[in-house]
Amino acid sequence: MKYIGAHVSTAGGVENAPLNAHKIGAKAFALFTKNQRQWTAKPLGEENIAKFKENCDKYGYTPNHILPHDSYLINLGHPEAMALEKSRNAFLDELQRCELLGLDRLNFHPGSHLKKVSEEECLRTIAESINLSLDKTSGVSAVIENTAGQGSNLGFTFEQIASIIHQVEDKDRVGVCIDTCHVFTAGYDLSTKEGFNKVFSDFERTIGFQYLKGMHLNDSKKELASRVDRHEVIGEGFIGLTAFEYLMNDERFNHIPMVLETPNSDNWQQEIELLYGLQK
Ligand SMILES: [Zn+2]
Ligand SMILES: [Zn+2]
Repeated sequence: MKYIGAHVSTAGGVENAPLNAHKIGAKAFALFTKNQRQWTAKPLGEENIAKFKENCDKYGYTPNHILPHDSYLINLGHPEAMALEKSRNAFLDELQRCELLGLDRLNFHPGSHLKKVSEEECLRTIAESINLSLDKTSGVSAVIENTAGQGSNLGFTFEQIASIIHQVEDKDRVGVCIDTCHVFTAGYDLSTKEGFNKVFSDFERTIGFQYLKGMHLNDSKKELASRVDRHEVIGEGFIGLTAFEYLMNDERFNHIPMVLETPNSDNWQQEIELLYGLQK
């Protein structure tokens, strides 16, 4: 069974996310639990939390099909102590918000070296950030998203992600989210049958499907290996529809939240239907 959805709006309160997901026929959803472009937010209210849980129950969403995403400002691999501290505090707050909502995973972009330290050192800092925050929380896994490798963002190779996981102490609480657009523009060609098989056998060998805790389903406005992150509507970009057909018919992607982050939210219901329609 595939759990397809989208990154839905929480305008008016987190409790609206499951309602917005239900409206578009989603079986999974992603959300920000606070404004993703700000460092701080007021704590979640008791009522928001209760209503969020109530709406999830009502529409049949369980934590394993919900993929919260952290703030874009956080850099867990920041090379400077003060800025790193700020990011670590914000990440801890994000994990705690997930705990309060009863959620079991938090999706985040690993971090950037800002050309000030080596990749290796940055990966070590990211792993240390994860270890520190997992120590202070319980029940929520840190889910590392692969990146397109834009700028100095790390996590654009399976080896880099494996290196972070290797250095995380609690392996039961670390996972991976694969974004199809990012993986493609990072140089992994999943657009052909042969390429798709190669990319995911590489993933299995380097990271392992046991760590796969979610997917972002996006086509790409940019070419293979362009290292640029620009999402496109499913089937209208350089990846093309066939890659999504392979995904939808591959059991290794069962039981995890798979969410659209494509440009036009008015089109999400149609894209969800399109994806389910690819199942044989
Ligand atoms: Zn993504
Ligand atoms: Zn992206």
